[in-house]
Amino acid sequence: MKAIDTNVVVRGASGTELRDAATVPGVIEEVKSKGFSRQAKRLSLTVIEPGESEEVREVSEAVNSPTSETDENLVALGKERDITVVSDDKAVQNLCHILGISYEGFMDEEIEEPVEWFFSCKNCGNSTEDPERCRRCGSGNITRKVREYSSG
Ligand SMILES: [Zn+2]
Repeated sequence: MKAIDTNVVVRGASGTELRDAATVPGVIEEVKSKGFSRQAKRLSLTVIEPGESEEVREVSEAVNSPTSETDENLVALGKERDITVVSDDKAVQNLCHILGISYEGFMDEEIEEPVEWFFSCKNCGNSTEDPERCRRCGSGNITRKVREYSSG
């Protein structure tokens, strides 16, 4: 069994290697809202809400991950069941990498090295932990930038 992401459900409907896949309720909602309910049915997915996602959220926060709650639940499912997470979302792969969960891409290559994000003020160039407002110049013009993961 593998834990699969939204785009994998949508694009992988005919993939026999995805038989017996699992996912989280949020992915099913995304798939439905995009109009691909039939694909989800064809895969006969096992839908599981992970019981515990706190560690995933902590890592996500520590690296300023752009992942959604659904993304993080999927990672938590991979961790809880000790199954491979299949996603082309690099930020999802990144959380898996840091947490030691096995992951693979579907249409695309996987990441090799983990990263983290920081926020940078477009006005004065200050790097900040605050995604809303620069503490140096007060500008709200903040952008998310990526850098090598430094475990800290
Ligand atoms: Zn600034």
